[in-house]
Amino acid sequence: MITGITGQDGGYLAKFLLDKGYRVIGLYRRGATDTFSKLKEHGILDKIELEDFELLEFSNICRLIKKYKPDEFYNLAAQSFVAASWQEPIYTAQADGMGVLYILEAIREFSPKTKFYQASTSEMFGKVQEIPQKETTPFYPRSPYGCAKLFAHWISVNYRESFGIFACCGILFNHESPMRGKEFVTRKITDHLAKLKLNLVQKPLELGNLNAKRDWGHALDYVEGMWLMLQQEKPDTYVLSTGETHPIRDFVQEAARACGFDIIWQGDGIDEIGIDRNTNKTIVKVNPKFFRPAEVELLVGDPSKAQEILGWKRKISYKELCRLMVEEDIKRYESKLSDYMGVMVEAGK
Ligand code: NAP
Ligand code: GDP
Repeated sequence: MITGITGQDGGYLAKFLLDKGYRVIGLYRRGATDTFSKLKEHGILDKIELEDFELLEFSNICRLIKKYKPDEFYNLAAQSFVAASWQEPIYTAQADGMGVLYILEAIREFSPKTKFYQASTSEMFGKVQEIPQKETTPFYPRSPYGCAKLFAHWISVNYRESFGIFACCGILFNHESPMRGKEFVTRKITDHLAKLKLNLVQKPLELGNLNAKRDWGHALDYVEGMWLMLQQEKPDTYVLSTGETHPIRDFVQEAARACGFDIIWQGDGIDEIGIDRNTNKTIVKVNPKFFRPAEVELLVGDPSKAQEILGWKRKISYKELCRLMVEEDIKRYESKLSDYMGVMVEAGK
């Protein structure tokens, strides 16, 4: 059973489990738009059993857990965008914090043998107290999202220790993919670069803090780590990360290089711009609108425990990730363009 089946990780995890022969129950919330676009792109929509689910609706959580008594329950659903958590702090706390307690209570009551995975996050390290961050590093969250996830993390540990629930927490560092939401910085970058490349936009990409550093891996590698956690004899907490960190500016540069731009940087602070050396065109500029009330300046994780105990290792490199993401966005726009041209030809225009 997977909550957040329509999100980035939900799709990759479902595909991973289906390939292993699992029966997958995907929990989603109703939406007015195409909720299942990622599952369709993965080609697995018809292989998943879908059920309505809302993190804040205790009754439906109980009903679903009682009905299926799942062997493994992956809780991936969350209001996952840090920046939005300052706009919706109360909702974020309820969904990302209390929602997890609802699930744990339902498991405790109706299916205590279910193995539970909680999507904890490196955002809990926030203003980092140690470099690199590992399972024992003290937490210092810097956003309502980080605070809510910290409650969820500790309540999962607490249910493990109090009631013997097989609750695992994966403290995952940023992981991205062509399926990442466009509000997150990596996908915002690759989507805009693809449009610039195909001349679908002329305006530069506007970003906030270019100096923040993140430890970025590929979601495909990380869902394997989630599964490995639930295959161990004992439940535990593990960091999944690459051990490398790069500033946002570097991701822009690398993704731009992968689609033929050669960026040189000029100016400082809010006046910094990135110019394509070949065309002299401004590709990137800073817009303070995207600065955050409190920033997580540096994340870099130590994945040694997961490597040693789970035998987990990321396979996709940072450079490959940048290239894969930008290439996929270019392909998507090219295919939309060719559909559009086809329609125009058919219409005789
Ligand atoms: P995502 O793409 O934003 O997906 C979030 C999922 O949660 C979506 O399916 C969303 O449904 C669902 N959801 C949100 N609020 C809900 C609610 N109230 N009730 C039911 N479903 C709800 O996130 P992701 O990148 O796959 O991340 C998966 C999990 O890992 C999240 O918990 C995230 O916080 C955590 N995490 C992610 C990263 C990362 O770098 N990706 C790192 C550490 C931890 P809709 O499609 O309807 O919006
Ligand atoms: P997060 O690490 O979960 O907050 O993932 P994001 O991809 O949303 O943000 C990563 C970092 O990129 C943060 O330090 C942001 O401040 C920084 N950043 C800089 N410009 C932008 C932007 O335009 N959008 C987003 N989402 N983040 C930005």
